[in-house]
Amino acid sequence: MHEMGRKRAGFADLQTTRLAFSQDGVRCPSCNRRVGQADNPKFIPTFGAAESTLATLTCERCRTTLTIRFVEPE
Ligand SMILES: [Zn+2]
Repeated sequence: MHEMGRKRAGFADLQTTRLAFSQDGVRCPSCNRRVGQADNPKFIPTFGAAESTLATLTCERCRTTLTIRFVEPE
């Protein structure tokens, strides 16, 4: 978080499915930019689960830190 203090950056939580995320169907809630794999998401290992259900990434436009929780499709 070395950019903190220089420019105020926000945080936001999102829920989406892996499919939507892989298709860049997720938008930053702060600036409405599409975010996805191109933003180098960091997947946080989930103990006991085969796949991570949590990822974080930083929106390149507004520097908001997004925490993305992957949910099962309805
Ligand atoms: Zn943004």
